[in-house]
Amino acid sequence: MPALRADLHMHSTHSDGLDPVEKMIMSAIDKGLQAISITDHDTFEGSKAAAEFIKNKGLDIILIYGNEVRARYYGKYMDILILCPSLPPSPPPKDALRLYDWAEKWGCLYIPAHPYDERRYGCGESIYDLEMHAIEAWNARAPKKINERAVEVAKILRKPMLANSDAHDAEMVASAHSIIEAEPIPEEILDAIVKGRVKMVRGHISPKSYAKYVGRKLARRSVKHLFLKE
Ligand SMILES: [Zn+2]
Repeated sequence: MPALRADLHMHSTHSDGLDPVEKMIMSAIDKGLQAISITDHDTFEGSKAAAEFIKNKGLDIILIYGNEVRARYYGKYMDILILCPSLPPSPPPKDALRLYDWAEKWGCLYIPAHPYDERRYGCGESIYDLEMHAIEAWNARAPKKINERAVEVAKILRKPMLANSDAHDAEMVASAHSIIEAEPIPEEILDAIVKGRVKMVRGHISPKSYAKYVGRKLARRSVKHLFLKE
């Protein structure tokens, strides 16, 4: 069975990413990935645009439809990655428990994102209460200690572990990713994750790459500011 390199968590300009889906996809191909998901915040629009671009250009990369949903659980917010084999109806429910049932109904995976990074809406200890298909145990933007804690908990809960970049620009793509043993078909990839045929390639966003991202983000804000003033 092929071993596919996959980065299943990244953002485009359809939410708070700095680069359009086209640039994210070309970067993924350059970096040797065979599968990606564009998981913009609370929308499948990034994935829809990505699917169209891949189809129109005839590119050799598999798209998993994704959405990083900010779900509510007893008054607390938590980010859940939803990965789907095809485009499900929108919008998914915002309640964390109903979201799981919805994911099951549409054949999607429900994966808590950076669970112990609670400053970035990780679910924290609620992870013990939730049903889930896998855990994002390694996130390239989360501190190492926080990732290590997620790895420990995934082992305790016996859940498959994914590593992702959570890239917010094209340079960050694949900085952490997973190797999935599956035929190159979305359904097969998601099934392989659930069955645990997945290995993490742990990595971090380099300080240089992060500084560049912050610089671009600030530049964009000040440009917006200038326009607003006029
Ligand atoms: Zn994210």
